[in-house]
Amino acid sequence: LEDWRVGTGYDIHAVVADRPLRLGGVDVPCDFGLGGHSDGDVLLHAVVDALLGAAGLDDIGTHFPDTDPAYRGIDSRELLHETISLLTAQGWKVHNLDTTVVAEQPRLENHKVAIRRALADQLSVDTSRVAVKAKSNEGFDAVGAGQAIACHVVALIRRGGS
Ligand SMILES: [Zn+2]
Repeated sequence: LEDWRVGTGYDIHAVVADRPLRLGGVDVPCDFGLGGHSDGDVLLHAVVDALLGAAGLDDIGTHFPDTDPAYRGIDSRELLHETISLLTAQGWKVHNLDTTVVAEQPRLENHKVAIRRALADQLSVDTSRVAVKAKSNEGFDAVGAGQAIACHVVALIRRGGS
């Protein structure tokens, strides 16, 4: 019997100086980066939470606690890799992923294709199954003031069937 599950992920990180900006595992040229215990990849964190949520496997903070020195400065692609292993062990496959990055700066129009390809590679799915949308927050709130970048992700996973 086919089993389908949907999950949502959300994350927000503060903008900080002197750190590379990494989104979806891609280094985006920018004069600031994102804070956080890991590499601050807000998009990958939202992806991980969407996948864990879809599979009913709790959340990123439970699996990869920011109090654990093992995750200090870690490449978030490793967190995604471990997450995919958890899902694979339970027979789950990623069907598709829809993502939105909300950032006042930098403008991501010229980076969306690279981020989409990188996400598809990490998930071992065709790029047609991954969407990367970028928008500003129209000046509202901390994101609109350029003090933070937020991401929203919806993931659909499946198992069983033919
Ligand atoms: Zn995060």
